[in-house]
Amino acid sequence: VERNPNEPEFHQAASLIFKSLTPLLEKHPVYMEKGILEQLSEPERMITFRVPWVDDQGKVRVNRGFRVQFNSAIGPYKGGLRFHPSVNQSIIKFLGLEQIIKNSLTGQPIGGGKGGADFDPKGKSDNEIMRFCQSFMTELSKHIGPNTDIPAGDIGVGAREIGYLFGQYKKMRSEYEAGVLTGKGLEYGGSLARKEATGYGVIYFMKEALKDRGLALYGSTLVISGSGNVSIYAMEKAKELGARVVACSDSSGYIVDENGIDLDTIKEIKEVNRGRISDYIETHPHASFYEGCEGIWSVPCDAALPCATQNELDEQAAHLLIKNGVKAVAEGANMPCTSEAIDAFIENNVLFAPAKAANAGGVAVSALEMAQNSMRLNWSFQEVDEKLQKIMKDIYKNCAEAAEEFGAPGNLEIGSNIAGFKKVANAMVAQGV
Ligand code: NDP
Repeated sequence: VERNPNEPEFHQAASLIFKSLTPLLEKHPVYMEKGILEQLSEPERMITFRVPWVDDQGKVRVNRGFRVQFNSAIGPYKGGLRFHPSVNQSIIKFLGLEQIIKNSLTGQPIGGGKGGADFDPKGKSDNEIMRFCQSFMTELSKHIGPNTDIPAGDIGVGAREIGYLFGQYKKMRSEYEAGVLTGKGLEYGGSLARKEATGYGVIYFMKEALKDRGLALYGSTLVISGSGNVSIYAMEKAKELGARVVACSDSSGYIVDENGIDLDTIKEIKEVNRGRISDYIETHPHASFYEGCEGIWSVPCDAALPCATQNELDEQAAHLLIKNGVKAVAEGANMPCTSEAIDAFIENNVLFAPAKAANAGGVAVSALEMAQNSMRLNWSFQEVDEKLQKIMKDIYKNCAEAAEEFGAPGNLEIGSNIAGFKKVANAMVAQGV
């Protein structure tokens, strides 16, 4: 805390990880002797930079860009870019630290990184987004590369932004380096099923975890917050596997549709029109819209999937969900549940699937996109989806086994941190200080 003042999200993520590691560190003192925790909590490199751009009125605007290259013990830095006004060093560092453990869990050779800017894409014209992305990449391009650091999307960065970022990167280089970014369009090196991967992966993970507890996804009622990339494809796969999603949200409020959310309408509103979730009731008058996002957790459900942003589900919301009979919570967003909410779920025997395991499908398929770029091959949707399903099953198995081995059977929070940390820590020990 003294070394990193004013970084509450980073402290929150670090303390959750380090608390979970206690049984491992007691059994294997080598990690403490070698100073692994001290090294792991200090980024290898933190870059901040000015992002000047000109808006449609001709006015000069300045934002702050970030890239944390956190840990490269097991591979090049890999992690998304977030464009949101709340972005600061603390947010980028918490995301980067989580990313190290998550990337390790995927079984792919990728280290941890993250980046973004305090830029708000809402209400900006397409040309403004393009100019911003070009300015951002002009600086970022000096620090990344297909074998160095490979950014991707996150909140506020989707296919459109990746396209503009890639276009600018290409102008700054003489070689065509397709593997420098993932989440690219299919026409220029993207992978089928990348767009769907995080959301589908959350559902594959949850299905596996439910099965282990004798529960089924089929026939269950879900509440899934957000209506962005992760949320939309979690809803899609959940519906395909026979669950009913009754509520979703955006940053202005949430909708409830007891008939099951109509996903075509959500895609039209969010992916095509870039509109607001409240538009849903114009075509679905039987549904209801409520202002403010927190209320979504008062909707009764069998499983809750926070897929919007950090700390969106607090202790009070957790107790409300528990009172209403929730049986499982799977984190699609990064750190969406507060520490107190996680404790409440675990104490009340609610299946809790932590983000670094449950939402690792996105980065796992990003690594598959990199593999396809290196081989100059394109796999079919089915091939990628099958690989994703296997990866999610393996992640679940590794987390469940680590939890069991270290005296916390069923506790996937402990299991995921131990399983992900061990590989990175062993690589750091082997490579020396
Ligand atoms: P998108 O930008 O596509 O969607 C984000 C959604 O969350 C939108 O509905 C947005 O509403 C809502 N939201 C964003 N910020 C807030 C906020 N402060 N309060 C309330 N609602 C908010 O992002 P993604 O779906 O890609 O990301 C969602 C989460 O998943 C993030 O935590 C991200 O880090 C995580 N994640 C994403 C991966 C990916 O592959 N995309 C991979 C792994 C994790 P609005 O439209 O009103 O802003």
